[in-house]
Amino acid sequence: MAPLPSSILIVGSGVFGLSTALALSTRPSFKNTRITLLDRSPFPSPDGSSIDTSRIIRADYSSAAYASLAASAQETWRQQGDSELGGQGRYSECGLVLVADKGKQGEKYVRESLENVKNISASQGVGLIQELKTRKEIDAAVGTGGGSGDWGYINTVSGWADAEEGMKWLRRKAEATGRISFVTGQAISLLKNGTKVLGATLKSGPPLLADITILATGAWTSSLVDLRGRATATGQVLCYLPLSASEQERLGKMPVLLNMSTGMFIIPPKNQILKVARHGYGYSNPTSIPNPSGNGEKIDVSIPRTTLDDPTLWVPREGEAACRQALREMIPELAERPFTKSKICWYTDTPDGDFLIDWHPGFEGLFLATGGSGHGYKFLPVIGERIVDVVEGREIGELRGKWRWREKKVENVVTEDGSRGGRPGMVLEEEWRKGSKL
Ligand SMILES: Cc1cc2nc3c(=O)[nH]c(=O)nc-3n(C[C@H](O)[C@H](O)[C@H](O)COP(=O)(O)OP(=O)(O)OC[C@H]3O[C@@H](n4cnc5c(N)ncnc54)[C@H](O)[C@@H]3O)c2cc1C
Repeated sequence: MAPLPSSILIVGSGVFGLSTALALSTRPSFKNTRITLLDRSPFPSPDGSSIDTSRIIRADYSSAAYASLAASAQETWRQQGDSELGGQGRYSECGLVLVADKGKQGEKYVRESLENVKNISASQGVGLIQELKTRKEIDAAVGTGGGSGDWGYINTVSGWADAEEGMKWLRRKAEATGRISFVTGQAISLLKNGTKVLGATLKSGPPLLADITILATGAWTSSLVDLRGRATATGQVLCYLPLSASEQERLGKMPVLLNMSTGMFIIPPKNQILKVARHGYGYSNPTSIPNPSGNGEKIDVSIPRTTLDDPTLWVPREGEAACRQALREMIPELAERPFTKSKICWYTDTPDGDFLIDWHPGFEGLFLATGGSGHGYKFLPVIGERIVDVVEGREIGELRGKWRWREKKVENVVTEDGSRGGRPGMVLEEEWRKGSKL
């Protein structure tokens, strides 16, 4: 990157964009750079992927590079002072029971993950990891009278974060630098002069101009740049149910339970609300839009549809049934308790589950910081620094190759990182036509 930019526009204030703004504002190289952070919603964005009741924080990855990055992020999550990231209930280290169904997809991921966390544990001297060889051992580790899968392990030093509170902590840190100009507005296109990107045009008001534009627009990125074959939006199901105070007290102590064969998971409840969800292939929402490249053609891309578009939105029947089945299996005492809320949350999926953090090869001044692929939140304390490393062309090891703009694109993006459950190829409208609400 040369010369130093006088202005940088970051579009999107989720975990990727906000952490990038913070990292830029504290790096000496950018001390004279004007930093603008744009989001279409006032913070916290009600339908952004980074905002929810909870997110799993784990170094339990089949890839050693992500495991190591997550372990370094966890060092910050573990800081428990009131003003620190993990304080005031923002992070709970309750343990993770990671399981699979033997012989099914997901087993390989869990076995490789076990090796990686054992290595981290040996080198850092933290944590107790115990293999769970039978369903009986899994049920005993979960402690709810239920369980899932038939093989796996418990890692006592994984846990979960209150996602919205973590983002609020990050926002306070970013505001405290006094270096970032926060703007609410929707970017409707990139402002270009030939192949040079000059900023973004907004739905209302004058365009925002910048030497560098960083797109951190999560699952909406395909509406601003052509990412066909490289990244796509997939909708994931979440269902919520209320608990009594005594259930909260008891289940609040359970570990996170995640089955990598089915994708189904439960995170311990907070504020008497329990969430059941699926880390799956998800639903696509094919939408015809003008090619953002501006060549006049129409293209079909998957774009999120959320409660901001339709406040009555409820997950398709297929998704609710999967959550119901998981609840019956994982916490039998709640088996038939009705869900009172559901949500479709959008992943920005890439073919291999690797993030997309790189300069766009076709447009000068355009940088992409996206492709979270359903596992980006935990990196909140470190991802902005790594993104700015890539902006600056610094060495970041193996992850640089993983996060590159892929020259060769696939026909249809289906994330095959070994961790996804459910059925590939589901289309949201088709599933809705089969009905919502059980
Ligand atoms: C259901 C679900 C469960 C998950 N579970 C986990 C987990 O357990 N652990 C984990 O580590 N990760 C998890 N993830 C993944 C993680 O949440 C995401 O990888 C991460 O939050 C992505 O952050 P982001 O900044 O890319 O996107 P977002 O948080 O979605 O931010 C994008 C922002 O861009 C804004 N925007 C979009 N378009 C425009 C525009 N045109 N103009 C202006 N602003 C715009 C949006 O308003 C939004 O605020 C999960 C994700 C989901 C959906």
